[in-house]
Amino acid sequence: MTTSTKAEWGTFKTRLPKDGLVTDPVALITYEVDGGLDRGTPQAVAFPQDVEDVVELVRLAAERGLPLVARGAGTGLSGGSVPSHGGLVLSFARMKEVLEFDEPGRAIIVQPGLVNLVLDELVKRQGLYYPPDPASGRSATLGGNIAENAGGPHCFKYGVTTNYVTGLQVVLADGQVIRTGGRAFDYPEYDFTGLLVGSEGTLAVVTEASLRLMRCPPGVKTLTASFDSVEAAGEAVSAFIAQGLVPATMEMMDRNMIGIIEDYIQAGLPTQAAAMLIVEADGYPESLDPQMEEIVDILRQQGAGDLRVATSSAEREQIWYGRKSAFGAISRISPAYYVADGTVPRSKLAEALADINRICARYDLRVGYVFHAGDGNLHPLVLFDPNDEEMVERVHQAGQEIMELCVAQEGSISGEHGIGVSKRGYMPLMYSADELAAMCEIKELFDPNELLNPGKILPPEVTSGVETQPAAESSPLSSPFVPASEEEAAEGLWAAQASRQRVFIRGRGSQNVLVPPDGDGAVWLSTEKLSGVVAYAPEDLYVTARAGTTLVELQEILRADGLWAPLVSPWRESTLGGLLASNLNSPQRTRYGAMRDMVLGVRVVLPDGRRLRYGRPVVKNVAGYDMVKLFIGAYGTLGLITEVTLRLMPLPRARRSLLAPVSDLASGLALGGALLDLSLVASANLLCAGLSRPAEMGASPYLLAFTAEGHPQDVVAELAAAREAVAGAGVEEILETETLTGVDLWAELLRGGDVYMRVGLLPKDLAAYLEGTSPALDGGVPQVIDFASGQIYARLAEPERLLALRDSALARGGYAVVASSQRGSHGDFDRWGYAPETLPLMRRLKARWDPGGCLNPGVFLA
Ligand SMILES: Cc1cc2nc3c(=O)[nH]c(=O)nc-3n(C[C@H](O)[C@H](O)[C@H](O)COP(=O)(O)OP(=O)(O)OC[C@H]3O[C@@H](n4cnc5c(N)ncnc54)[C@H](O)[C@@H]3O)c2cc1C
Repeated sequence: MTTSTKAEWGTFKTRLPKDGLVTDPVALITYEVDGGLDRGTPQAVAFPQDVEDVVELVRLAAERGLPLVARGAGTGLSGGSVPSHGGLVLSFARMKEVLEFDEPGRAIIVQPGLVNLVLDELVKRQGLYYPPDPASGRSATLGGNIAENAGGPHCFKYGVTTNYVTGLQVVLADGQVIRTGGRAFDYPEYDFTGLLVGSEGTLAVVTEASLRLMRCPPGVKTLTASFDSVEAAGEAVSAFIAQGLVPATMEMMDRNMIGIIEDYIQAGLPTQAAAMLIVEADGYPESLDPQMEEIVDILRQQGAGDLRVATSSAEREQIWYGRKSAFGAISRISPAYYVADGTVPRSKLAEALADINRICARYDLRVGYVFHAGDGNLHPLVLFDPNDEEMVERVHQAGQEIMELCVAQEGSISGEHGIGVSKRGYMPLMYSADELAAMCEIKELFDPNELLNPGKILPPEVTSGVETQPAAESSPLSSPFVPASEEEAAEGLWAAQASRQRVFIRGRGSQNVLVPPDGDGAVWLSTEKLSGVVAYAPEDLYVTARAGTTLVELQEILRADGLWAPLVSPWRESTLGGLLASNLNSPQRTRYGAMRDMVLGVRVVLPDGRRLRYGRPVVKNVAGYDMVKLFIGAYGTLGLITEVTLRLMPLPRARRSLLAPVSDLASGLALGGALLDLSLVASANLLCAGLSRPAEMGASPYLLAFTAEGHPQDVVAELAAAREAVAGAGVEEILETETLTGVDLWAELLRGGDVYMRVGLLPKDLAAYLEGTSPALDGGVPQVIDFASGQIYARLAEPERLLALRDSALARGGYAVVASSQRGSHGDFDRWGYAPETLPLMRRLKARWDPGGCLNPGVFLA
């Protein structure tokens, strides 16, 4: 690190307005800390106003070897924005604009300094909803949320920040500005967006984010329930899952915390209870009472008392005001507190809480609990005096034991607060030397000179490189190679690397795989012997299965317990590994999220033979880089997926579709757009052509298919609204059915084609795009237009027709790709036709992990 002179700050100052750079030591004190315990003194704080300022500052800092620490509101709890190595702090307080609000497309582009609450209020005014809601949302920024992959009370049902970020604009460590992802879905590129979310400002500086939004549930009901013990409250959480219920939130507090809050703000919480739960249900008003009745029944069976349902929005707000004031209330009674943010699978909550109580008692520490129980995210708040060194030491020891306990229970050392400085020493609890080394290689790829937020996430002793090499095979691999274990696969891939053989991965040969024309003479690696369920925990809503297991086999096992993995494939043979590698998303992503949102963990073998495990069977895990994302949609080019852990859901209690004939494209587009506005529980909103249909639907060129699923009352309410909209547009033959869904039609299209293509667009651009390209994609071409995801699937007799569609898709910020070909070849033209701005990074990563270019060569990266 260099010490900057006044003259050097002068160079920085020329770029910024007068008050845009702070160097006064007193003013700098504010930037020494975040919400946690760590400290570090910056040399200066800069306040960029736009991306050009950021580029200039990054370049100047890079030239001087000056550490750069991005900062949002400084509410982080693991020292993420603490300048522990000194340097320049980049505060985003002046980059807080909404750059574009696309209401019909349910998307928004924001600058990183925008505060959560401001975003929330803005989108709610338009009937939309951004679910990640950290309790610090009154001041935390979107940049900080993205860097920490923030979660909150509603993440049990709706997921965390990464599930809502579709694209980023970032400044790399050398000052280059690039885009990852965008506003369409599933860009054909490595999922660097997913990797950057949760990377705590150590890989790049975020300057813009594209976020997806949902429709705001029209109704919500909240209740509080008291319990005689924390363990009993934990068991009630498991009971909801066992009954197939997914409340919008389940928050827990113990007696200590309730008392501390009540002393502070008198929110009316039950002070006599040993523990309390806040449970919330949302949906159409028609479904709220039935949902609440069920919730109350379960709570009563679990011994809950003092059940209070909020009868007005004021009462509801009062409950949440109490919950969100917890940290402030603690600050009043203790000079400091340590939040041991970790996760355990939900069913282990009660046991984990009892163990943590024992740990804290042993270290003579006061502890209180307030946490998102629905997702197994524990937040013991340990009170202490920072001036008492001996006590601080006890807090550290207790903290370490709590983390060890979480890891031993298959949880994570961080659910939502990240690793930062405070937890990097715990990373080896979760990861092997090889796993940490591969993360280190990611850091080197993005930031070779360790300029960005140095000293965070990775422990200092971690280095890149292969730690444990498989025993080298002397002879080359023969084809087919059918490993029966991960170890055998690793040895084989290492042997192939050593002899520069080309290896193509095959699941059960379903047609979603495209093999390049020069596949002859290569080794075929089949995952068929890597099949079967490894771990299944219905009570915790996860399953781990080997990659060669077919989705059909898996769903059969889950169905027996009323569960499913909300994924579909058109092909019976599709394996979990193949589905993940090709990131095949069906229209039902609008209801349940995309494949990347369902995958909690993977085991992979890198092309250099390293065997790695990332992710854990918990919804929240921000322990280091989200490496899982790299393997989803990478078409097997970065590694062989050997095991997959999936998030499960209760089977929907009702599923019903509305079908309607449509005479022309323009009317179909107008109807699809109108139905998009009202979708809350829709699992498909499609316009189809050239596919089968019930006889009574007549022979119109297009068929509208709208499916809703979930609580029966929600489904009925949504279909009634959809019917009214369709009838209002003058369509008379409306059919409601339980036997044909939108997803069935999508699957039929993909199954039936020699070649099918996928166009990805911003949902708001669908109509204009289709109107402009209709000659190439008229109603005679079998096709499915998915309004919610902005995707068009079409079966093409000649793949060359795709070319006519590609240019205008690219011009609109989308793409058009050949998604499958039964012929094994897609002709002479480029299958992808899309050069992401991340391409150089993709190539460098591929070269790092697969130096011989052996694994699936030419499948994704030329
Ligand atoms: C009372 C309280 C309650 C909390 N409750 C929750 C909760 O419910 N859920 C939860 O997830 N968290 C919670 N937190 C933690 C914290 O608020 C979140 O992590 C939040 O997302 C941090 O946002 P921030 O703007 O304060 O970021 P900061 O603390 O300023 O920074 C956090 C990280 O983001 C990086 N960063 C910031 N901006 C950028 C950028 N533009 N580009 C790259 N990196 C950037 C920083 O370098 C740092 O590593 C809570 C904290 C407090 C104090």
